[in-house]
Amino acid sequence: MSNNALLDENRQLRRKLKAYEANASRNEQKLRRFQDHELRFISASGVHELLVAIFNEYRDEFRLDALTLLLIDPEYEIRRVMENLDITAHSHPDLLFVEDAAPLQAYFNEHFHPRLGSCNESCYQFLFPNTGTLPSCMALFPLVRQGKLIGSLNIGSYEPQRYIQGVATDFLERLAAIVAVCLESAINSEKLKLLGLLDPLTGVHNRRYFDERLEEETDRSLREQAELSCLFLDIDHFKQFNDNHGHHIGDLVLRDVATLIKRQMRSSDVMARFGGEEFAALLVRTDKHEAMDIAERIRASIARHQPHDADGQPLHITISIGCASLAGNPDVAAQSAAHHLLQQADKALYRAKQSGRNRIDYSLAETSDLRNRSA
Ligand code: GH3
Ligand code: MG
Ligand code: MG
Repeated sequence: MSNNALLDENRQLRRKLKAYEANASRNEQKLRRFQDHELRFISASGVHELLVAIFNEYRDEFRLDALTLLLIDPEYEIRRVMENLDITAHSHPDLLFVEDAAPLQAYFNEHFHPRLGSCNESCYQFLFPNTGTLPSCMALFPLVRQGKLIGSLNIGSYEPQRYIQGVATDFLERLAAIVAVCLESAINSEKLKLLGLLDPLTGVHNRRYFDERLEEETDRSLREQAELSCLFLDIDHFKQFNDNHGHHIGDLVLRDVATLIKRQMRSSDVMARFGGEEFAALLVRTDKHEAMDIAERIRASIARHQPHDADGQPLHITISIGCASLAGNPDVAAQSAAHHLLQQADKALYRAKQSGRNRIDYSLAETSDLRNRSA
């Protein structure tokens, strides 16, 4: 080989090497950016933070045109967790749910490889329903736990060539695997928290939760000098109802009553099964008149409700309600004001029972005589 030829080859090799170096450095930077996001996902303190890390930070950093997360939720369990965290379709329109795994499973092969390619109208409807325009192409990453598909991370792009077959997706696959682990663990820990705070029969919160929130809301109401009302609700003659129709029908009715009460609550209100056939509700930023209106709506809806026994015979139930609202000195200790509020609602309930049941009575929970916060 001549000297010139050798020099030429040398130049070419140098050029190639430079290109490899540049590529390696780009990949390294990309890897670092991915790793940063992975770390953020792993260190997210809960579902909320994790969703922000995915839908805001990750999406913005990689300038993704469309990003959705579709989760398989046959029993509505995950959505219940989300509702409880105030994560709604409105606040997170790109968090999607399906009851049935089959339509999503159809996008992946048995080895759960990512799916890349063009995005047609039916993919758009299913995977990007709240994205303004149909993406040209998409990359779908299965979220798999213990060999089972739990959902998918879906990326859409308006650049037709961005996600075509053969494009390397190693970083994204890794990221999707981390999203799957983090999501599952965050949701499970919320589920466990909820289990400790939910009443298993009716699915509404239990007394433990109510007691915690009662003090928090009372404290907030005193500090912000905002109205706070409390309802204490007790099903009428429920012992007799059980004796006549059996405990099983009694249980079903308890569930119905919980649902009917809950229906009148706003998302900021707190409602719980206090015990047996008793329920309690905290109505935040609600004065006497509004609270009495809500109580009346609950009373009327339960009186109107007509469940049936095993023979199809209509059953009647009524409820009595005690209503109280906090007023007076805002400098009292939250704990004693909370206790006083509940006690006054209970007293009002007692009077409602005494005066014939299926009715509402009211007490003002005046705090002026209570111990001051600083005392
Ligand atoms: P009142 O109108 O004065 O409230 O009469 P009551 O019969 O409802 O009140 P009482 O306190 O005497 O009885 C409450 C009944 O509620 C007793 C119990 O059989 C019934 N109960 C409590 N918890 C449950 C439950 O989980 N399931 C069913 N089916 N019944 C329950
Ligand atoms: Mg009772
Ligand atoms: Mg009762």
